Amino acid sequence: MSPLAPSEWHSIEAPVMRTEPPGPRSREILERIGRRAYPGLAEGLAPLAVASKRAWTVTDADDNVYLDLASASASVPLGACREELIAPAVEALHRFGNEDSHALASELTAELGERLLAIAPPSVSRFDIALNGTEAVEIAIKIMRRATGRPVVLAFHGAYHGESTVTAALGAEHAEISRGLRGLVPGFVHVPYPHPYRSPLRDARPGGSGDPTVDYLRDHVLFHALDPSEVAGVVIEPVLGSGGCVAPPDPFWPALGDLCAEHGWLLCADEVKTGMGRSGRMLAIERWGVEPDLICLGKALGGGVMPIGALLGSERALGGFDDVPTGSTWSWLPAACAAALATLDLYAREPVLEHVAELERLASGRLDELRDRFEAIGDVRAVGCFLAVEFVRDHETRERWPELQDAVAAGMCRRGVIADSSTTSLNLQPSLVMPAEALDRAFDIVGESIADALARPST
Ligand code: PMP
Repeated sequence: MSPLAPSEWHSIEAPVMRTEPPGPRSREILERIGRRAYPGLAEGLAPLAVASKRAWTVTDADDNVYLDLASASASVPLGACREELIAPAVEALHRFGNEDSHALASELTAELGERLLAIAPPSVSRFDIALNGTEAVEIAIKIMRRATGRPVVLAFHGAYHGESTVTAALGAEHAEISRGLRGLVPGFVHVPYPHPYRSPLRDARPGGSGDPTVDYLRDHVLFHALDPSEVAGVVIEPVLGSGGCVAPPDPFWPALGDLCAEHGWLLCADEVKTGMGRSGRMLAIERWGVEPDLICLGKALGGGVMPIGALLGSERALGGFDDVPTGSTWSWLPAACAAALATLDLYAREPVLEHVAELERLASGRLDELRDRFEAIGDVRAVGCFLAVEFVRDHETRERWPELQDAVAAGMCRRGVIADSSTTSLNLQPSLVMPAEALDRAFDIVGESIADALARPST
């Protein structure tokens, strides 16, 4: 049992399946939503309606209890409904209700801003407030252009930055996300993410930067297509999250840092998903000692209790002007600040990151076993509690096999494990405090579900 879990969580039994999902009550709720909602809302991760959540489990409307390997899109880091995080938020709601923190300040803003800067590298010394990750990235783009006076922002194939008009166009995880927007939101240039399994840029050029992606940027993009003086900077997920848990190779970071320094580009790390421990460090950039000019935070920052985002920045990026309006009414709602402060306290008090390292070791072993067992697995990846399985029809061609991936996720759901198959790999994002035994059980179910999906003629 996880040493981090509240004692009342120790008796949790999961999974417990009483009906095949969707059971009758879930079906009724989903049909009711489907009748009136925007049709694009319809497709969730799993065919069920949530009735309640506890720790690392989801209970549906038919009383099925699932192991949750989605963690609300990685926004619930320390277990669902954690009382130590809810209580301070409730107390702040009683005290403030809402206050627009742009309009009237409270001490909570000062406290949280200082605490966030204290967990960040010394390159950043200022903060701005945001409602969520999307808004933090939106602000970052405006700030990068204002601080440099340059229009173009470089970003990466495979990266996800949000679904608003600007963040959808900044991202390039899947073409569907930005469909209809590319021509309307100019100023973003994308290059392949330094993806060891998928990037077409495989070898660094002799005498080059030491990294194939940065060589490509220097030798091709900046030679043929884009003058570096037009570029405000680079936005990058330090580990691809939604795009499948991909960490760049070590030489990429110094090569990118040199390129940014040479041309006066700002480096912005989108840590909305990687931040707050998911990668095994508080911030994923710590893995490589990277010191960005801007850092976007969101998701887990609110402890899985409240929505909140933040932008941290250097003096150059965020200190030299005051004429860019940012944020929105509910940014840094006092209750969200209180939840974020309680979340930071919990990380400071408990060995969460040590536990993430243990889960990563366990997951790496189990993922390697799966890859050895199934020809249909092309690649497996584990970075902290970001885990991914990539299915291929053929090892040589690496052709993706999305139908198998979906069939595996559906089989896992029938057996009581919720995973994220909405993207190019099967993504598993356990709670950072999930007990090792529960994650081990989930991996048994992944294996059973792959074997079962491969045996079905429809796959
Ligand atoms: N950036 C990254 C890297 C993300 O993963 C996400 C959400 N998945 C966002 C930005 C947008 O955050 P949100 O949807 O919480 O506003």
